[in-house]
Amino acid sequence: MFDTKDYEFHKKDCPEFCFICKRPSEKFFIMRQIKSMKMVHLCEHCMLSHLSEYYLDNTRPWLGKDFYK
Ligand SMILES: [Zn+2]
Repeated sequence: MFDTKDYEFHKKDCPEFCFICKRPSEKFFIMRQIKSMKMVHLCEHCMLSHLSEYYLDNTRPWLGKDFYK
């Protein structure tokens, strides 16, 4: 089983908007913010331009938007 504390989302993260540019996107990437070690949603553009600050943590399968409501 996963320890859910390891997958805590950032307080300011919203599953419908990109954490950095705050814009809605068709597709989000769940990334870990290295600074806070919290998970955030990033659009493709922000993910690619902030690769040094965030990394892809794909050790957990994507559970869909409903999971985060
Ligand atoms: Zn973005």
